[in-house]
Amino acid sequence: MVHVTRIVIIGGGPGGYEAALVAAQLGAEVTVVDRDGLGGSAVLTDCVPSKTLIATAEVMTTFDSSYEELGITVAQDEAADAAKVIGVDLGKVNRRVKRLAIAQSHDITQSVTRAGVTVLRGRGRLGGGGQAVDGSREVLVDAPDGTVQSVRADAVLIATGAHPRELPDAQPDGERVLTWTQVYDLEELPRELIVVGSGVTGAEFAGAYQALGSKVTLVSSRDRVLPGEDPDAAEVLEDVFRRRGMNVMGRSRAESVKRIGDRVEVALADGKVIEGTHCLMAVGSIPNTAEMGLEEAGVKLNDWGQIQVDRVSRTSAPGVYAAGDCTGVFMLASVAAMQGRIAMYHALGDAVQPLNLKTVASNVFTDPEIATVGYTAADVECGKMDAVVVKLPLRGNPRAKMQGIRDGFVKLFCRPGTGIVVGGVVVAPRASELIHPIALAVDANLTVEQVASAFTVYPSVSGSTAEAARQLHIRKRVEGES
Ligand SMILES: Cc1cc2nc3c(=O)[nH]c(=O)nc-3n(C[C@H](O)[C@H](O)[C@H](O)COP(=O)(O)OP(=O)(O)OC[C@H]3O[C@@H](n4cnc5c(N)ncnc54)[C@H](O)[C@@H]3O)c2cc1C
Repeated sequence: MVHVTRIVIIGGGPGGYEAALVAAQLGAEVTVVDRDGLGGSAVLTDCVPSKTLIATAEVMTTFDSSYEELGITVAQDEAADAAKVIGVDLGKVNRRVKRLAIAQSHDITQSVTRAGVTVLRGRGRLGGGGQAVDGSREVLVDAPDGTVQSVRADAVLIATGAHPRELPDAQPDGERVLTWTQVYDLEELPRELIVVGSGVTGAEFAGAYQALGSKVTLVSSRDRVLPGEDPDAAEVLEDVFRRRGMNVMGRSRAESVKRIGDRVEVALADGKVIEGTHCLMAVGSIPNTAEMGLEEAGVKLNDWGQIQVDRVSRTSAPGVYAAGDCTGVFMLASVAAMQGRIAMYHALGDAVQPLNLKTVASNVFTDPEIATVGYTAADVECGKMDAVVVKLPLRGNPRAKMQGIRDGFVKLFCRPGTGIVVGGVVVAPRASELIHPIALAVDANLTVEQVASAFTVYPSVSGSTAEAARQLHIRKRVEGES
């Protein structure tokens, strides 16, 4: 008799549903248990909704920041400036956001069920008792109707994601004090929005609402915004934010948020109190790993409650894998999906390449966008990677000039001897698209000579990538001789 491997996946976000598709393709019997809807937070509350909102913001900023220079005239209302003339209907924007998210979740459910995967609605957890004699494990599913179903699995994948962190003295009420999952219920644009937290999520929402017309204050506990990103890129963004009128408060730790009628008060650690009409909390996230029977099953968690995994997504418990935000490895949808696929390749005995974080391309969806791949300035500074660096401001790029783009740059890192490209940063509108050739170069170990010799369209912003590679070729030779 042919043995069919039984896979149970808890969590239907990118970590879970991408794994399910691969496992079904490899001939396994696959069950996905999900609480809220396939696509997970990525599709329903985080990645897809925020980028849909930002799509509207992007049109507003592009227009607002360049129309005069590009010779576009706007019929001026006596009392209103151009930004107000082209205002935003936030209720309509948010209805579109939610419609697109639900449609995408529906599409994913269809493709997963078409692949032969069983989808169970409910909360999944590992059953007690560890592995059975045949090596299988029990997964218990608490269904919404209160019943509990038991499913056996030869391998289990935990892909339960994470949820917004809340501060004890800043409890969200869904109306004035909000998490990033609650902003899509707003019918009207916040007049004065205070964003607490200047990591990627805080910076993206602060930039988006500023573009939509809110007066934004960004409260950052660090010296500058985006502390985890390339410092030159963060400096450009902070400069742009301030120039557009955002109040960026560095070294300011929010201690509490209070709602007083239709207003909010944010108390800072230094005693200052700032006021606004709304507050958005973006202070990190907590992995969804509590009360799942993980530790009882021998799955090790770190101090933050994240599941510890190796590069093929194995946990410390045999037959239990984990992927995505619940592992805290690199909190991106693309990485979650890759970890999930790798887990299935490994569990089902297919060829598997361990996760390589040095080829991950990521993007901050602000205006300008900040896209990054490979080794970073911090890696070079601390000696983790020996690299030669070139940074080309976009000011000199002909296409950028034509489009009225002044802020941004292309930065490339290559090995001094071989010229192999090991990293890059692009700060530009649509940097998320422009980073791809650099990501390809990093992934395929291309040299700066190879990058420089490929044709680029004239005029194009990507011409700056080839130009940076040419400059690295020269610099590499000069530094090699000295
Ligand atoms: C505002 C915001 C914007 C983002 N934008 C981007 C972006 O542009 N690009 C990008 O790559 N990443 C982005 N991310 C990160 C991205 O959303 C996450 O990395 C991604 O969602 C992780 O996928 P996942 O599969 O691990 O978990 P999730 O997408 O969180 O899915 C987990 C699923 O598991 C379910 N679940 C939880 N516990 C259980 C249980 N016990 N039983 C059953 N089901 C359970 C949840 O309901 C959910 O459906 C963003 C994050 C935020 C907060």
